[in-house]
Amino acid sequence: MKVANKKVTAERLVRDALEKAKYFSDYHIFTFLNEEVAIKKAKEIDKRIAKGEKVGKLAGVPYALKDNFLSPEGETTASAHILEGFTAPVTATAVAKLEAEGAIMIGRTNLDAFAHGSTTENSYFGPTLNSHDKTRVAGGSSGGSAVAVALDIVEFATGTDTGGSIRQPASFNGVYGLKPTFGTVSRYGVVAMASSTDCIGFFTKTPDDMNLLMSIAAGQDPKDMTTLPDYYDESETKSQKDSLRIGVIKEFDNDSVSPEIREALKKKVELLKAKGHEIVEVKMPSLKYALAAYYIIVPAEVASNLSRHDGVRYGFRSDKSADLKNLYENTRNEGFMPENKRRIMIGNFVLSSGFYDAYFLKAAKARTLIVKEYEKAFSKCDFLLAPVTPNPAFKLGEKIGDPVAMYLEDMMTVSLNLAGVPGLTIPAGETKEGIALGLQLIGPRQSDKNLIQFAKELA
Ligand code: GLN
Repeated sequence: MKVANKKVTAERLVRDALEKAKYFSDYHIFTFLNEEVAIKKAKEIDKRIAKGEKVGKLAGVPYALKDNFLSPEGETTASAHILEGFTAPVTATAVAKLEAEGAIMIGRTNLDAFAHGSTTENSYFGPTLNSHDKTRVAGGSSGGSAVAVALDIVEFATGTDTGGSIRQPASFNGVYGLKPTFGTVSRYGVVAMASSTDCIGFFTKTPDDMNLLMSIAAGQDPKDMTTLPDYYDESETKSQKDSLRIGVIKEFDNDSVSPEIREALKKKVELLKAKGHEIVEVKMPSLKYALAAYYIIVPAEVASNLSRHDGVRYGFRSDKSADLKNLYENTRNEGFMPENKRRIMIGNFVLSSGFYDAYFLKAAKARTLIVKEYEKAFSKCDFLLAPVTPNPAFKLGEKIGDPVAMYLEDMMTVSLNLAGVPGLTIPAGETKEGIALGLQLIGPRQSDKNLIQFAKELA
């Protein structure tokens, strides 16, 4: 808008964003800066505006792209050595939609390799630092995108959320982060992690920006057969009742959740009550199976999705190999991070004959219970308000040596992905030491628009 109204030029905005990105280079947010192309695109938009031509809703708005979205601008590496040197021949649908409205990608952001992780410490290029405290983790896997928005380098950034990778770093950095309903935004052209839980979403500084981006990015895509029929409409304001019923999950209210997060939740609950909303306690006992089910189902899908990386088709190829089998082995051994390998091993194990019934099938059944439990919860309340994580951002290096301790931090995010329901992280103040706190609003499937609108009441 600012650009279309000639208040500022697109070139100025893009140059400022690039300058800020360089100024904050020690945070290690970007894996690639799109300097030349971004400035060229900005100049083209400025020319079109000078000529009085119509421009898009995001004309000249600089944004950051998580480095697992395919586009020909820069290499798409997913922060993995095995994809180094890979320039995508196609553009992800989400990227194409943003750019059609005039958004300009200024850089690609760091993530845990293939989005496996919760801190960006699994990135081949090293970790991103937390925007509020450089000694702490940025969160992950979309840590770079969250910090790019939190440090005000860009207006928005893209993310992917398979088990919390948008909501958790948003919470760790004090910004909004939406994981939409499964199937709302096309995943065509995005590096797959787990196909039954992957979602595309955004990081923004306001709910209104989130609404605008969703209205642009959402929609059925013939290139992604899992996309839902169009339902997201920015302008249509579905009449939301004045007084809503908000559920608080009983199982998340215990000593394993840090006192600061429980306090932040209490404050927001009081705020909602003061605004005339009703608060109800909701019991969701099946959520205790969510983490175990997630860490069986997701590795199974990861193992399948990563089997295509063989050193022949994309990116890096090991040159130490005597024959073809050796080429596959060496490329995969040198190209994947330890966490990628761990998931490939677990995934193949839980799918193998003899273990399938004991692990994968059980996890699939637990998933059904979780889906039903969310349905039941939303028959009793309009939305749920919950913590995103049991603890605020922890220290770099604190959990990377202990995979189970790291996985446990995901216990409040993963169930939404298993159930396909939307979740929106909202900022919820800071700890005494100035570490960001966040909470998540959870809604029934396809309530994304109302969820975003409701977030304004909690601001
Ligand atoms: N932290 C979770 C994991 O490591 C979620 C990752 C994601 O959403 N991409 O699986």
